[in-house]
Amino acid sequence: MHQQIAERLTAWQGQQLRDLPWREEPAGARDPYTVWVSEVMAQQTRLSVVAAYFSRWMERFPTLVSLAGADRQEVLKLWEGLGYYSRARNLHKAAQIVVLKFDGRLPQTRAELITLPGIGEYTAGAILSLAFGQHEPLLDGNAKRVISRLWDIDARIDLRSTENRLWRLSRKMVEAASAPGAMNEGLMELGALVCRRRSPLCDSCPVQSYCLAHERGVQELRPVRAPSQKVPHVEFVAAIIWEDVPGQSRVLISQRPEKGLLGGLWSFPNGAREPEEEDSQASVRRAVDQNLGVEVKVGERVATVEHAFTHFRMTLDAFHARITAGKPQAVGAADWCWTTLDEIEKLPFPVPDRKIIAALREFA
Ligand code: SF4
Repeated sequence: MHQQIAERLTAWQGQQLRDLPWREEPAGARDPYTVWVSEVMAQQTRLSVVAAYFSRWMERFPTLVSLAGADRQEVLKLWEGLGYYSRARNLHKAAQIVVLKFDGRLPQTRAELITLPGIGEYTAGAILSLAFGQHEPLLDGNAKRVISRLWDIDARIDLRSTENRLWRLSRKMVEAASAPGAMNEGLMELGALVCRRRSPLCDSCPVQSYCLAHERGVQELRPVRAPSQKVPHVEFVAAIIWEDVPGQSRVLISQRPEKGLLGGLWSFPNGAREPEEEDSQASVRRAVDQNLGVEVKVGERVATVEHAFTHFRMTLDAFHARITAGKPQAVGAADWCWTTLDEIEKLPFPVPDRKIIAALREFA
């Protein structure tokens, strides 16, 4: 059965694959660097969004060696808006390690690949099968859904035992495949296009006759998910500290510490509101003091920005501000500088700060 499913997925992949810039070569014989970058970009991100980022990235960093020699800020700038910035930092770090330890070529074993920052079991499987044509399994969200339905797995998907079982089944399929790269890609693509989370298109499915969940009419109940938890909401404040008159001079930005959320990116000095603080202005004063060790006078509100991260939603209120005492120092920030609204374009910022910059341009 593994072999029949593998062959059908391979044949289907040959006919149905979406045209994307990293798929110019056949699966199993692609450039390993291309596979690596595209797979890392595609994690948690829609492929239609990834395509434009990928093309820009490849224009600027066409080879692993060119990425290894790049400036970290430029790497983050090219990633700006894609989110999960540790992915970009890890790509950069891993490229440098590959140049130092592996002569600039990605290694061809799972054991070596997963020693590199940001390369886990999934990405290793993608590189080994899609670039080197090896019979190595992979498991992304789409592949997990398809396998859970094919074998009608009724255990919760978040359990380690279920994960192990899914890996075993994925391995059996790829080991039975004549073209492992095409089979793996077909498996993921089937999950994206046909075996969708809601309303799977079973009548167009090449493996319907092998699908236990379809036979039992329970496909929409697979995979079995953990009960969903409410995403917390956090209120943040940010200070737009002007050197002179608001909108007409330089503004202060700080760089986030390398480790942690949005590490290495620039932002307007900010912090979460504390419950005991009487108003947003008090929160701004405290946040600026913690980041830069200065006192500020807080002025009018510039913008209110809503944004959803994976683990929380934020509402960010940004206020004009002026320093009234002290000289800025990188207390809670990695660095800081004065910049103009024109120069600011050269630096990488998270999406909420980009929205603030857009609001500032309306003022200017
Ligand atoms: Fe998914 Fe339906 Fe195909 Fe089963 S038959 S693998 S549920 S699309």
